[in-house]
Amino acid sequence: MTVGGHGLDGVERRGLMFVLSSPSGAGKTTLSRLLIERMPGLNMSVSATTRPMRPGEVDGRDYHFIDKAKFDLMSKRNELLESAVVFDNRYGTPRAPVEAALSAGQDVLFDIDWQGTQQLREKSRDDVVSVFILPPSAADLEKRLHSRAQDSDEVIRGRMSRASHEMSHWAEYDYIVINHDIDEAFAEVQSILKAERLKRERRTGLTTFVRKLQQQLEQ
Ligand code: 5GP
Repeated sequence: MTVGGHGLDGVERRGLMFVLSSPSGAGKTTLSRLLIERMPGLNMSVSATTRPMRPGEVDGRDYHFIDKAKFDLMSKRNELLESAVVFDNRYGTPRAPVEAALSAGQDVLFDIDWQGTQQLREKSRDDVVSVFILPPSAADLEKRLHSRAQDSDEVIRGRMSRASHEMSHWAEYDYIVINHDIDEAFAEVQSILKAERLKRERRTGLTTFVRKLQQQLEQ
């Protein structure tokens, strides 16, 4: 399986699980979209949720919108890789598409909270790369939540108070990006993914490749 390379040198690597977490409104959705658009070999994991669809969202693209009974059934059948309750709604990652992508040598992008990230880390520590996105200030976060205009004032207040709780998990993440500017934040997240793809531990065939190079050099 080869990702992000031409494979002619016989150097290949395992797919990785790239997790972005942040309080709502810190820019994670935009960053995820940009990553999917601009990084070949990266597939978005589409979560299942019991929360109602927001205006502009598309079933199957943003989430699989399902009812509580279906969610419980998926959970019981072990069809979810991880799951959590967020804002009184259930969220979970369908297992099959992730496993299919990883075994095809593709990377998978997750927009999940700290609870889900902990579960993924427990299951496959070596394959998880986690990034926590922070807003530059509380005022900025509030402004972004209001400008989305998708939620009621009451929901926004709930999200603001939850943001502080979510942020308390920042130190569990491998990387921290402060989103002052979306282009800059994107460049940083992109650099993280590019560097993680090159990690020695994740790649196979290097020993043979280097040995061949050495033989050629010594001839
Ligand atoms: P929203 O309702 O604003 O789309 O998402 C609320 C929160 O749920 C976000 O922090 C998002 O990252 C998280 N979330 C979305 N899908 C999943 C999932 O499948 N698992 C977990 N653990 N969290 C999720």
